[in-house]
Amino acid sequence: MNRKYRKTIIAGNWKMNKLPSEARSFVDELRSLLPKTKTCDTALCVPYPIIPNVARAIKDSRISFGAQDVSLHDSGAYTGEVNAAMLTDLGCRYCIVGHSERRQYHGETDSEVNTKVHNLLNVGIIPIICVGESLEQREKELTLEYIDYQVKAALAGVEPKEVKRCVIAYEPIWAIGTGKTATAEQAEEVCCAIRAVIRGMFDARVARSVSILYGGSMNAKNCDELLAQPDIDGGLIGGASLKAPDFARIVAGTAQE
Ligand code: PEP
Repeated sequence: MNRKYRKTIIAGNWKMNKLPSEARSFVDELRSLLPKTKTCDTALCVPYPIIPNVARAIKDSRISFGAQDVSLHDSGAYTGEVNAAMLTDLGCRYCIVGHSERRQYHGETDSEVNTKVHNLLNVGIIPIICVGESLEQREKELTLEYIDYQVKAALAGVEPKEVKRCVIAYEPIWAIGTGKTATAEQAEEVCCAIRAVIRGMFDARVARSVSILYGGSMNAKNCDELLAQPDIDGGLIGGASLKAPDFARIVAGTAQE
């Protein structure tokens, strides 16, 4: 973490878990467990129907909230879609884009990720842009090449001052939901490479202001070592964000210098 230049963020990704009626008790428990002093931005990215419940439950707390996807379109005849303006109207601070599960199960392309990034920035929502290689790519030593391509595609056409507001989440696909975490060295290598790509596309000032998170089976046990890395500015947490004590412990892990 480098608090001088950028924000530390711990964001939970609930995926398609929990019910709207379960939000209040989760948030109440989380609030009671969070460290007394703020050491990071703590956010919950939840399914659309749960957003209003979380919004009510977190009132007057340090927790913020967001969504897990956004439509490519601004408005109109797109049955089932949710646009960026709706998310901002609900008060979302963040929205995940390009999660590997959306890429894998919904065919989301890099060009679509880029459109979604623009749509979110246009309404003032911070995109949490997920990038990450498959196991096959890692084994063929294609990780850095692929990450370079994904980051460039996601940030194409974004103004430097807007890039500073973006968050990148490095999520190796082989580590998501598998219990297999990247080692701190592997995660740091890629997060550092992501910053170098941003430096090359923009400049050093922009690169040092972008928060880069690690995601992939981060939990209460392994978070400290990952969060101690200089280019890892927090975490995008799936499974461990569903249990308030585990999530609170990861947030507490950002207290280290
Ligand atoms: C995720 O879904 O973004 C994620 C990192 O999941 P998990 O922590 O469960 O691997």
